[in-house]
Amino acid sequence: MKYFDHAATTPPHEDVIRTVAEVMTQHFGNPSSLHRLGEDSSKLLSRAREVCAHALEVKPGEIIFTAGATESNNLAIRGIMAEYRHRGNHIVTTSIEHPSVYETCRQLEKEGCMVTYVPVQADGIVRVEDVISAVREDTVLVSVMHVNNEIGSIQPITEIGNRLKSRHPLVYFHVDGVQGFGKLPLSIRDSRIDLYSLSAHKFRGPKGIGLLYVKEGVNLAPLLTGGGQEGGVRSGTENIPYIVGMAKAVRLATEGQPRFAEHLAKLSHELHEGLQCLSGLEVNSSSRGAPHIVHFSFPGMKAETMLHMLEEEGFFVSTQSACSSKRSEPSRVLLSMNKEMDCALSGLRVSLGEEHTEEDVRQLLQAIERTIERLQRVKGGNS
Ligand code: PMP
Repeated sequence: MKYFDHAATTPPHEDVIRTVAEVMTQHFGNPSSLHRLGEDSSKLLSRAREVCAHALEVKPGEIIFTAGATESNNLAIRGIMAEYRHRGNHIVTTSIEHPSVYETCRQLEKEGCMVTYVPVQADGIVRVEDVISAVREDTVLVSVMHVNNEIGSIQPITEIGNRLKSRHPLVYFHVDGVQGFGKLPLSIRDSRIDLYSLSAHKFRGPKGIGLLYVKEGVNLAPLLTGGGQEGGVRSGTENIPYIVGMAKAVRLATEGQPRFAEHLAKLSHELHEGLQCLSGLEVNSSSRGAPHIVHFSFPGMKAETMLHMLEEEGFFVSTQSACSSKRSEPSRVLLSMNKEMDCALSGLRVSLGEEHTEEDVRQLLQAIERTIERLQRVKGGNS
């Protein structure tokens, strides 16, 4: 079987697995304990924070460890809106955010916040001017993802950050960096980002662990109160094995980024070219998008049917994103790009990893071609 679902999750790196196992066996102390075992864990925690901070070119004190990007995004959005309630209650975000941002904003609307969901253009990219002009006097936060998890469109983060901060210096800027990290370079400082979310399992780390960068001087109301860990912003005994495993994955992803990006770009270019030649297919992602995500639809067919037919051929791909794929609803992202309902119901995402070869891509293309031919025969038979 060939795994082409890296945007859903990646296979953990063997060095990460080894690190996690070693920390679990040898360094199991609670970092808050005063004895030597506790001190040992506390040192590992500090070192992991330094490694993550170094990779993101920020200060160690600006890193909060969380249980993944869903928590990071919730903490960023809810934490800012609760802490700075006196400044206003309006959020600006986009119509194509991951559910951990989108549904959080929807929930906050029920709790009295106002949210503007800025639409994207046909290519899945938001216009900088549309984001900036949506900011009002009572806007507290702007939240825009770096790379869309479904179609891989890259948002103009650096431009948005700079325009936002020069016009509205008091408005906070949050970026969901999950799908961009390790694939594309992004400077948190140069993009004037205040809050930045990551999830380790998207770059070969463990699941259930992530981080939130919080710029020095920015305060967050905590979601979890308790023992006061993570500067009081995120209470709960720290998951040292996974934190250290994530730090290892962060380092590997940062060091490998230019090499991975070049390799993945070559493969996704081949995939795009091959898909363009297949009749009946609509390619929704752009060759200028993130190098690991290629998305297409076969209008008139249910995405789930195609997914299972490709699985029979030996390939794992996904419908929409993993977080929405259990509901057979049209893709919110594709509808936001003004795609037809038929297209939004039949989207498939192929996401590449560093271990893939050109031969893997060729075989996948052949399997997609065979699948389409089979589906066209069925369609023809039914009409
Ligand atoms: N944001 C984006 C863009 C994602 O792709 C994901 C994972 N699908 C998340 C946030 C949430 O990450 P997690 O499920 O690891 O909490």
